[in-house]
Amino acid sequence: MVLDTSALLSGKMFEGELYVTPGVMRELRKHGITPQLEAFLDAKVRTLSPSPEATKKVKLKAEETGDTRRLSPVDVSILALAVDLEARIVTDDYSIENVAKAMGIPYEAVMMSPIKEEIHWRYRCTGCLKFWDEWHDPCPVCGAKLKTSRPRKR
Ligand SMILES: [Zn+2]
Repeated sequence: MVLDTSALLSGKMFEGELYVTPGVMRELRKHGITPQLEAFLDAKVRTLSPSPEATKKVKLKAEETGDTRRLSPVDVSILALAVDLEARIVTDDYSIENVAKAMGIPYEAVMMSPIKEEIHWRYRCTGCLKFWDEWHDPCPVCGAKLKTSRPRKR
């Protein structure tokens, strides 16, 4: 999947082979990256530049569909990378979707992506009843055992 900036800023944890373009990384840095997003990008996301051929194809198609003015250079790079990789695009940008459709590139909206829900487990001490976000054995406060508490959705 090729992710656009809005997909990454949505805070969703995407699964699979994930790609962005250097332009998306620039936009993210401008916007400010949280430590969680930074870790996610480092671990899961590869940055690749699209080929000039694919970029040209996208620009030509955008002219046909009338999306040229609405597509930023970053949008074009996302489409072109999807052409190169034969990948799916995740975006909420209407013009990207429109050109993707015209080019036969599969795409999906950010909100409709098959995202695994992020579950955050918590632990509770059986002695002092304190909740912990991370596992301890034994409880650093009272030395009793912890048990897994009900997960909390984020
Ligand atoms: Zn305790």
